[in-house]
Amino acid sequence: MFHEIINKEEDLSKEEIVYLLKFSDKNELHFLYQRADEIRRQFCGDGIHLRGILDFSNYCEQNCLYCSLREENISLERYRMTPEQIIEVVRAASAQGIRTIILQSGKDTYYDTDVIAYILYQIKQSTDLAVTLSLGPRGFDEYKAWKMAGADRYLLKHETANSELFTYFTDGLIRGNERIQHLRFLKRLGFQTGTGSIIGLPNQTIEDIADDLVLSRELDVDMAVFSPFIPSAFTPLQNMQICNFDEAIKTIAVARIVLKNCHLPAVTGLDILNKAGREIALKSGANVLMPNFTPEPFLTKKRLQNFSNKRYPDYTSPQHEISVKLERLGRFLSIDRGDSLKKSHLVK
Ligand code: SAM
Repeated sequence: MFHEIINKEEDLSKEEIVYLLKFSDKNELHFLYQRADEIRRQFCGDGIHLRGILDFSNYCEQNCLYCSLREENISLERYRMTPEQIIEVVRAASAQGIRTIILQSGKDTYYDTDVIAYILYQIKQSTDLAVTLSLGPRGFDEYKAWKMAGADRYLLKHETANSELFTYFTDGLIRGNERIQHLRFLKRLGFQTGTGSIIGLPNQTIEDIADDLVLSRELDVDMAVFSPFIPSAFTPLQNMQICNFDEAIKTIAVARIVLKNCHLPAVTGLDILNKAGREIALKSGANVLMPNFTPEPFLTKKRLQNFSNKRYPDYTSPQHEISVKLERLGRFLSIDRGDSLKKSHLVK
C-alpha cells in the first residue's frame, strides 16, 4: 500500500495523504524521502533558487496568537525602513546576484497603496528582479495597483486550512479564512501566488495538515511554504510545544508528492529544530532557500523576536560559497528567477 501510494501517478486522495503523513515505519520511511527527491528532480531540476527576504517593517495590525509581530506584543521593539532604505537594500541584493526579492512586513497600512507602488516602480526601473510581496491580506484595489506597478508574486500563507483553528489563532477576530479568497483573487490578477501553513500548531491534527496540502493543490499555487511552529516570546503560545522535526520534514516530502511542479522552500526555522534542517529538507523535496537580507540594526531586532536569537548560515554569503555548499548536496545555485513551473504562467 505504501509503495503504491508514493508511486501513484494520479492525484492522491485526502485519505492517502493522511496515510503518508502518519507513516512511521523506520525501515521504509526513507523511500518516502527518496520518492519526494525524485519528483523534485523530475519537475524542478537540480537548481536551487534563492529568494532574498527583506523584512522592512515589523509593525502589525493583526493579533495572530502564534506571531511575535502581533499588535498586542508591547515587548517587541518595532521598526520601519524608509522607501529609500528598502530600495537601496534591494539594489544591493540584486548586485550580489539575487534574482527574487520578497518584500515582507506585518500588516502595516502605514505603507499605503502609493508607497508600495512607488517602491515597486523604483525597483523595477533599476533591476531585473522578480518581486514578491508578503504584506498580509490587503485591499483588492491595492493588489491591482501593485500588479500594475510591477509586482510579480504575492505570498499569503493560509496558515491552516481548518477554519475553526484559523479563527482561534487570529484571536477570534476573523471568521472563516479570508486569505483563501484573497489568493484566488490574486491568481486571477495574474500574480504568481504562494500559500502554505504552519506545521505543529497546538490542537492541529494530521487530518488538518492533509487539508493544507489538498487546499494548496486546489489553489494551484506556484509556491507553498510549510514552516514548523516555533513558539515566539511574548505571545499567548510562547509555552506551547515546538514542532517535531520529523513531522516538518515529512510534511515537505508529502507536499512534493502531492504538489509536484510547485516551488517548496526549506525554511530557516528548520535549522532551529535540527542543525542540518534545511539541508535535510533540500534532500526531501524542497528546492528553494530564503536567505534574509534585512540589514542591521533591523535584523537584530527581528532575531530578538524569537527565544533562540541564534544565528544561522543565512545563504547571504558570496554566491561561490553558496555554490560550494550546494554542490556537496549534488545541487547547484540556479541563476534564473525561479518563476512559476506551471504551464499557465509559462505561456505568456
Ligand atoms: N504579515 C504577513 C502575513 O500575515 O502574511 C507576512 C509576515 S508573517 C510574520 C510571515 C509568516 O510567519 C506567517 O505567514 C506565519 O506563517 C509565520 N509565523 C508567524 N509566527 C510563527 C511561528 N510562531 N511559528 C512559525 N511560523 C510563524
